[in-house]
Amino acid sequence: MSFSAKDGGMSIISDHDITLVPANAITGPLLGMLHARLQACDDCAVANVRAGLGGPFGASLHVYDGSELIDVAGPVGNAVLSTGLASAHAEDRVMVPENVEKLRAVLARVGAGASVYVVSSAESCPACHAKLEILARSLVGDGLLGAGRFHVLYGATYDDTREVAGFHDAPYHTDMTKAPGERLIAVGHCALNDCPASFRVALEQGHAVIASHDGYHFVGHDARGDDVIATAEISAIRNACRAEQASGSSTPWDLEQGVLYSPAQAVGPLMYAEAQWANISRIVLTLQSKVQEAADIGNDDFFHIVAARPYNGAGAAAQIIRLSPFENKAQHEWARQRAEDPEATRQYNGLSISGSV
Ligand SMILES: [Zn+2]
Repeated sequence: MSFSAKDGGMSIISDHDITLVPANAITGPLLGMLHARLQACDDCAVANVRAGLGGPFGASLHVYDGSELIDVAGPVGNAVLSTGLASAHAEDRVMVPENVEKLRAVLARVGAGASVYVVSSAESCPACHAKLEILARSLVGDGLLGAGRFHVLYGATYDDTREVAGFHDAPYHTDMTKAPGERLIAVGHCALNDCPASFRVALEQGHAVIASHDGYHFVGHDARGDDVIATAEISAIRNACRAEQASGSSTPWDLEQGVLYSPAQAVGPLMYAEAQWANISRIVLTLQSKVQEAADIGNDDFFHIVAARPYNGAGAAAQIIRLSPFENKAQHEWARQRAEDPEATRQYNGLSISGSV
């Protein structure tokens, strides 16, 4: 335990090597520095909206060494519109491989006692939450970061985001708290021999496949050697969206009720939440490998950690904290543009959730 009130303005409750950070525990100079970064994320998100690149969201990545807040990456904005990818949210963009590489280098240099802060203008959706958890777990697992030292700070709550900007993250989360058979996306198993012959070989090799509504299929490889969140399922969804964009689709992020075939034995929160955003109707597990989304935990248990509320419960590697007050300029800019010209701001909410907005 290397932080105290005097060296960082933080109070941390330590329980062996697990540290819990209460929502009101960041104080002093660090709190001021983090508020300035949150403001910068909001400003970035305003510019992002005005440039037409994506929704009103921004995120940045920092390391705190006990006295200084080191800016590692960002702020960057949501890039769903510019990339065509369903979950190219700000948190996803700030976690691109080159930024994660920089983060790992800074942590290796700072050494024990470092803390990571991801700042996001809005409360993360379950897909981003899963990605942040995976990153936190990989850093802790590789000995680059102490347990409990990965923090995600956000400004706008789910309610703010719904009321001001019209995006609905909360129902996605609620969906993930339901029993498997009651969720929006049906999950089933399929023996390899019963899977479509056109992509059976890809499944046999442990890849994931999106079978699109119009008869095409898109294969995704596990690319986590380069990109910590690029599971086979995420790669397949990204490849399908990119193909839609290349074919001229005006809504490449919407896979229109396609089916995700996964090599996994259980549904993880990343594949599920990503499927929500990409408008996937069904996930088929082909049980081809023991692959899991986070190295240190099975997909079932990981699913429950991401779905659990309140945040920061047992087993969570990313500590999630709301920072207030927050001006939320970008979401108001988005709302203003929508009121003026609904066609200019494309409202995409992924899987249809009737009556949720
Ligand atoms: Zn997100």
